[in-house]
Amino acid sequence: MDALRESHIQQKKMRRLLLFPTPLQGHINPMIQLAHILYSKGFSITILHNNFNSPDPSKYPFFTFHLIPEGLSEKESSSMDATSLIALLNEKLAETLQDHLSMLLSENTDDPVAALIADASWNFTQGVADAAKLPRFVLRTSNACSFLVYNSFPLLLEKGYMPVKESRLEELVPELPPLKVKDLPEIKMKKPEDFFYLVAGMIRTVNASSGLIWNSSEDLEQDALIKCRQVFNVPIFNIGPFHNYFPPSSSPAESQDSISWLDTQAPNSVIYVSFGTMAVLTQTEFLEIAYGLANSQQPFLWVVRPGSVQGSEWLELLPDEFLEKVRGRGEIVKWAPQQAVLAHPAVGGFWTHCGWNSTFESICEGVPMICHPSFGDQKVNARYVSDVWRVGIHLEDKRDRAAIEKAIRTLMVEDEGVEIRRKSLAWKEKIDGSLKQGGSSYQCLDSLISSILSC
Ligand code: UDP
Repeated sequence: MDALRESHIQQKKMRRLLLFPTPLQGHINPMIQLAHILYSKGFSITILHNNFNSPDPSKYPFFTFHLIPEGLSEKESSSMDATSLIALLNEKLAETLQDHLSMLLSENTDDPVAALIADASWNFTQGVADAAKLPRFVLRTSNACSFLVYNSFPLLLEKGYMPVKESRLEELVPELPPLKVKDLPEIKMKKPEDFFYLVAGMIRTVNASSGLIWNSSEDLEQDALIKCRQVFNVPIFNIGPFHNYFPPSSSPAESQDSISWLDTQAPNSVIYVSFGTMAVLTQTEFLEIAYGLANSQQPFLWVVRPGSVQGSEWLELLPDEFLEKVRGRGEIVKWAPQQAVLAHPAVGGFWTHCGWNSTFESICEGVPMICHPSFGDQKVNARYVSDVWRVGIHLEDKRDRAAIEKAIRTLMVEDEGVEIRRKSLAWKEKIDGSLKQGGSSYQCLDSLISSILSC
């Protein structure tokens, strides 16, 4: 923050950017990080946001915030699954954005708006930006590998791999190695056609945009990027890891408990467990996880989000026997400062749902993973983690306590785990280099800025 404050004082802002994330935590965080990066390069920033999951402006004193009201109550928004919510808002918000955009563009300021940067699944924003003659860049908060899969949906539907059938789960998809049918990023919805329509819209409007930004690294995704550059007609800017541009900001006092606890643990001994901000577990899954951790005999730091276990508020399902078994060896918290946790020397492994932010944060810290994906591109990420980047163990479909115990012990204490940790550290070094002068992300950021300024 201090570096940012200094740049704010020193720099006369040249152009303004409007950044519009979808209202989901895993999409808001990277958009705000991108805002910080572009702010440090001299742009003024306006964050467009909805009522639902709206960011707290007091945390970001250098940015302006502008509400695009979605016209849904908090209750309506939070009772819908994320994909249905985004599909609905894509239908509802075009006119509202149009009105707000003409207001913002007509303001007479010394930092005129240069471009809109919208989340890739805000499909409606392309038409609105075109009508306002405003260049639209796109932030896709996952990676190139999974984007190629989304781009292949017409082929996957035509060849019958999708909708996914139980009888074909273990089949390889030869067009997308090393993915199996069970790894395809299908999302179960009341109306599956809404999902396919949303994805088709995303691909179409990315192709109509002025450029595609990823929080990923050229080094990590070389092959996928070669294909993406053949398939998509727009410039691609791979400028990640976003979170490594600045030192981590200080976390709320309550989440410091995790760090204080980690300070008491031996190097590389702790398995950190978190399934992100959205995944919900059944009671059986929750108890298998608990006993897998208990039986592994390894120290663990486990994030259990309140409400993330069906029919339960927080930890009341955990039997006394479990608590007795893990006393002094396990720490359970409601939220952890994940980037600081992964950077802590005591953390030797990350058992994750493989959301892209978590996966990339782990790769960037050289922390090997146990993959426990549940939906969407988490399944693609998990396959790449285990079979391509080779920085983790995939739990596949065996998620009972015995399989969990075995995976934890393999990762944390066996020779196979040592080899996986060696590979993870090699990736960390490569990715660290990409942000240095001359590195791939460094160069892509320069091109992005030139591209925005030349629109
Ligand atoms: N996160 C965190 N503390 C937690 C849980 C999650 O800081 O206790 C952050 C994590 O670092 C990541 C984001 O929340 O940046 C989760 O995003 P991801 O794409 O991994 O998963 P999603 O929540 O979108 O499924």
